[in-house]
Amino acid sequence: MTAQVLVVGSANADLVVPADRRPGGGETVLGGDTRILPGGKGANTAVAAARLGADVALVGAVGADGHGKLLLESLRESGVRTDLVRTVDRPTGAAYITVTPDGENSILVSPGANHALAPADIDDVAGVTGGFAGVRVLVASMEIPLPTVEHVLVSAAAAGVRTVLNLSPVAELAAEALAVLDVLLVNEHEAAWLLGEDAADPARLLELGPRSAVVTRGAHGAVVVTRDGTTEVPSPRVKVVDTTGAGDAFAGALAHALAGGAGLAAAARTAAQVAAVSVTRTGAQPSYPTADELG
Ligand code: ATP
Repeated sequence: MTAQVLVVGSANADLVVPADRRPGGGETVLGGDTRILPGGKGANTAVAAARLGADVALVGAVGADGHGKLLLESLRESGVRTDLVRTVDRPTGAAYITVTPDGENSILVSPGANHALAPADIDDVAGVTGGFAGVRVLVASMEIPLPTVEHVLVSAAAAGVRTVLNLSPVAELAAEALAVLDVLLVNEHEAAWLLGEDAADPARLLELGPRSAVVTRGAHGAVVVTRDGTTEVPSPRVKVVDTTGAGDAFAGALAHALAGGAGLAAAARTAAQVAAVSVTRTGAQPSYPTADELG
């Protein structure tokens, strides 16, 4: 049987190195010990949804190496189904993250296996799942080839599946894919990029084609836009420790709530609570709460 939440996106090993400062061109800087953590937007989103109790599968690709093994283990430990994660002949995606004492990150992403995820793989998934039968919500995220993202949105929509796109990092998507999208999920910087405005009016995102949009605004919560109007969702006030992966926590929790039958505004309220917990803890996947922890 197919999972109720299908996440299509990247899986990366995050290699995090603390350093007093980041190296300039041609320079070598000695840093602290490397931590290797499971990450990538697709994997993070799937883990966030699974921790809350969603029946979730990831569609992705890893390499036949140690990082791939780490990612598959982390996904399985969180309860994410991995039968649709392909092992390919490229290195597992990796994010090289330098963290300086001011808390600022510099990130170099090597997509590796994630870039092997092709539109034909989506056709295979559709074949294996009987045309996405049983899938209630499909979440696509970026860091995989754009044609694959576009193809999965169009295919899932044609099969009557509700689609969410976390358009991060932001990119120009084909109009056909935006036109069939149910929920466009972006942060406020991505919204501004899409609309070409400094302080973007979230309602204008619907002019791009999606039926609804959610704009996350960090500590200021989120704005939900549908054809019926705009709803502001507040962020709980919390002591922030590390915001890494907050957007993915929001995406996973939103998908879980939508799959459970919640309306979009209610789903965004739950997602804001889950993401707020995630920023009080270190890391991305390890910071995501279970349903029990939410109380
Ligand atoms: P990231 O890149 O860190 O994963 P993002 O830029 O994609 O995040 P944000 O809008 O910064 O997305 O955060 C996503 C959600 O996380 C917010 O809508 C909010 O619910 C929660 N969040 C983020 N920062 C805070 C905070 N300081 N306090 C409470 N909630 C927060």
